[in-house]
Amino acid sequence: MKHPENDPKYAGLAVNQGVSQPPTINPYLKPHKKRKKDYSPSEYVEQIRKGNITLLSRAVTLVESQLREHQIAAQEIIEKCLPYSGNSVRIGITGVPGAGKSTSIDAFGTYLVKEKNKKLAVLAIDPSSERSKGSILGDKTRMEELSREPGAFIRPSPTAGSLGGVARKTRETIILCEAAGYDAVFVETVGVGQSETAVHSMTDFFLLIQLSGTGDELQGIKRGIMEMADGIIVNKADGDNVEKAKLAAAQFRNALHLFPMPASGWQPKVLTYSGYYKTGIAEIWDMIDEYTAFTKGNGYFERKRNSQAKYWMYETINEQLKTRFYNSPIIENQLKAKELKVLNSEISSFAAANELLESYFADFKNIK
Ligand code: GDP
Repeated sequence: MKHPENDPKYAGLAVNQGVSQPPTINPYLKPHKKRKKDYSPSEYVEQIRKGNITLLSRAVTLVESQLREHQIAAQEIIEKCLPYSGNSVRIGITGVPGAGKSTSIDAFGTYLVKEKNKKLAVLAIDPSSERSKGSILGDKTRMEELSREPGAFIRPSPTAGSLGGVARKTRETIILCEAAGYDAVFVETVGVGQSETAVHSMTDFFLLIQLSGTGDELQGIKRGIMEMADGIIVNKADGDNVEKAKLAAAQFRNALHLFPMPASGWQPKVLTYSGYYKTGIAEIWDMIDEYTAFTKGNGYFERKRNSQAKYWMYETINEQLKTRFYNSPIIENQLKAKELKVLNSEISSFAAANELLESYFADFKNIK
């Protein structure tokens, strides 16, 4: 439209034609790519088998997810990975906080990857997960040298949940890692609670890291945990501490002799080393190699894996039953009221439990 001020009577001035409001977004910017492509379980497995770490990590995330659809996908992936699993040496590692687990795993791991040409996965079971709050960075900085190795896959503990749940997820992750070609798997746990039993029930070799210099008491490590150990390694055998470490090793050896012979027929060994100065590391791996050869020879290796598989079937049933029970709406509705009745002595604990179970299973029948 002609602007009125462009009339010849306003000589000397010209108003230009305006332009329309430019878009606020740069039109030349490429459209954002969708961040994640969706893969089918078969595609996941194919990529995992090729050693694709990104997809391995994403599969582990599915395993750890609480979402039902993720769980279904995860189970399908695990099932498809099963035929390719089982070919690693699974090593459980425990020790009280400060014993030097991180330093030692960094040292062992780097040795395995660099000197022995192994592919190593480092997993953890830590139901409290306070240390790293499940952050990968937390675990990567704990194992600085190892985390730079392309042959190492480090995954922190699934975040807090019931011990059974956390442990099951770690066990399933082992299967995925094995399908991805990792030939050694470390499962670390803090040596204070019950998680040792869980780690023991998914590993072939159980390694207990101990310290010297605190006399002959067992440093807060329960007797039961010592009994589970296939190898006890006394850390920080360096500098002035070498003699003390040797003495501690002798004491542990004596203590072990008081235990009955383990079912494996393997007499647990006690070694000294320094995770920090990386001495005595090769000997630890030799011990594990020796154990594997020995137990494969006498059939124990296979037997233990079979009984672990059975154990995890029952563990999963127990865990799932509990979760489903407590999460079902019918139970959620009644639970508090029943609890109150028990507290007010209106009904016995036993009767309340029975009524709840009855209504859960009755409801279940109705759905079917
Ligand atoms: P974690 O809590 O079991 O993971 O133990 P860390 O690996 O974090 O180690 C605890 C402390 O012990 C750290 O300050 C380490 O530097 C130190 N440490 C670990 N291994 C050794 C070792 O072999 N010799 C010495 N002198 N110190 C060590």
